[in-house]
Amino acid sequence: MNDRYLEFTHSSFGKSLAAMIGLPTPPRLKRADGPWESQPLDGKPVLVGSSRGATLVGPLLSALSGAGATLRIVPEHSGLAPLKEAAAAQRVTVHGNPAEGAGEPRNHAVVFDASGLSSPAQLRELYDFVQPVLRGIAANGRILLLSRAPESLQDVAAKTASTALRGFIRSLGKEVGKNGTTANLIEVPTGADEAIDPVLRFFLTPHSAYISGQVLPLAAPQTRGVALPGSLEGKIALVTGAARGIGASIAETLAREGVKVIGMDHPSAEGGLGETMAKIGGVGLALDVTAPDAASRIAAEVGKNFGGLDIVVHNAGITRDKMLRNMPAHFWDMVLNINLGAILKINEGLLKEGFRDGARVVCISSIGGIGGNAGQTNYGATKAGVIGYVDAMASTFARRGGAINAVAPGFIETAMTAAMPFGPREVGRRINSLSQGGLPQDIAEAVTFFASPAASAVNGRTLRVCGQNFFGQ
Ligand code: NAD
Repeated sequence: MNDRYLEFTHSSFGKSLAAMIGLPTPPRLKRADGPWESQPLDGKPVLVGSSRGATLVGPLLSALSGAGATLRIVPEHSGLAPLKEAAAAQRVTVHGNPAEGAGEPRNHAVVFDASGLSSPAQLRELYDFVQPVLRGIAANGRILLLSRAPESLQDVAAKTASTALRGFIRSLGKEVGKNGTTANLIEVPTGADEAIDPVLRFFLTPHSAYISGQVLPLAAPQTRGVALPGSLEGKIALVTGAARGIGASIAETLAREGVKVIGMDHPSAEGGLGETMAKIGGVGLALDVTAPDAASRIAAEVGKNFGGLDIVVHNAGITRDKMLRNMPAHFWDMVLNINLGAILKINEGLLKEGFRDGARVVCISSIGGIGGNAGQTNYGATKAGVIGYVDAMASTFARRGGAINAVAPGFIETAMTAAMPFGPREVGRRINSLSQGGLPQDIAEAVTFFASPAASAVNGRTLRVCGQNFFGQ
């Protein structure tokens, strides 16, 4: 569905009217228009900084220069020493951040290695670095912090400082969204330093346009040295609910990266499924996710033609909204069975037969399972359940060299949200830092990233793709 207000405020009349009477103007987000590239930051200026004692500067500089970025620094910043040493060791060229008005292109991204923060007082280094450069960030820019997760730190002062970063980034995301800029925090455990390369390629590019205010903790990677571009070539994926909406976009985005997609949907959606699969050279499987023999039928279909599954995306989902006091039992049962029960059963079956070693699973949760919505006790329960489920199953998948994660969409422009009454729909769209709904592609990009073995340091996590929706954390 079209966001008519956004379109209006970008028309010449709408622009002037909005400026005259002070209406908010949602930014036009820049989204990816092709597959993952080997040099996605080619020639783009990235301002990079560090705190004293920072330990991620080496992998950070090599990832940024490998991605083609033009590196800039703030020569007078007090935390520069680790960065300068790493730049000298790697022989990468860094340039001084140009003064505003010098006619140089604005910074596409500002990246700060905060892994050396050892006390709340040292947070001043973060302020000193970020505060003066905020105005110089280009539209659709990126702010990214790297830190050590508080849970991995023993020292009280260091743990406090590291936790403070979470509040900093959530607040900053709410400040900078007006021009499409996002702000996120990646928490890197010791031993996972090299794993930041693919993560930076995702968070610093248009593939993550609708993700802001998020904290993503990494774990020890399952596989090392896998480059993001090309990492999905030839993989086999099953996507449920693939006929339309978010599922169709996930299927298309996986196919864009070279994945062979088996799209599954309810037999009543067979027509739409056929059309989506025809576009991407995929295979349709008309099957209800709640069918008692769903797992064995998937395994049979996949075994016969492809040998096994590398990726499963549990996307099929429904809403049956009613205040709990008026909710009939069949509304409860349907939503619980499709959105949650089927995921557990299908995975259980595929773990016995169907998954290849290294299989990666992505489940679709929802902001509704985080913030909660009146009239959605059934839906909210399933979507929160998904978050607990991926956490609980992470070690099972890790033992097989794979992973299981979830993506929690906010308000996304699909048939599901088009069916909402006008008022709640308009509110749902605007209550986030980017003042607009996301597109199915935004969810598909995050799912496709999680599906890649290059994202092997992400396991058991739920990433919100919601433009930093103001509900929940
Ligand atoms: P949609 O209704 O457009 O598509 C859902 C698809 O799932 C349909 O093709 C449908 O036929 C299929 N499906 C439903 N029941 C099925 C069953 N029993 N077996 C097989 N397939 C079945 O919905 P969407 O907006 O694209 O949502 C996709 C997922 O994203 C859902 O899990 C939804 O809860 C979640 N989500 C959506 C939004 C949003 O704003 N649209 C927000 C948060 C989460």
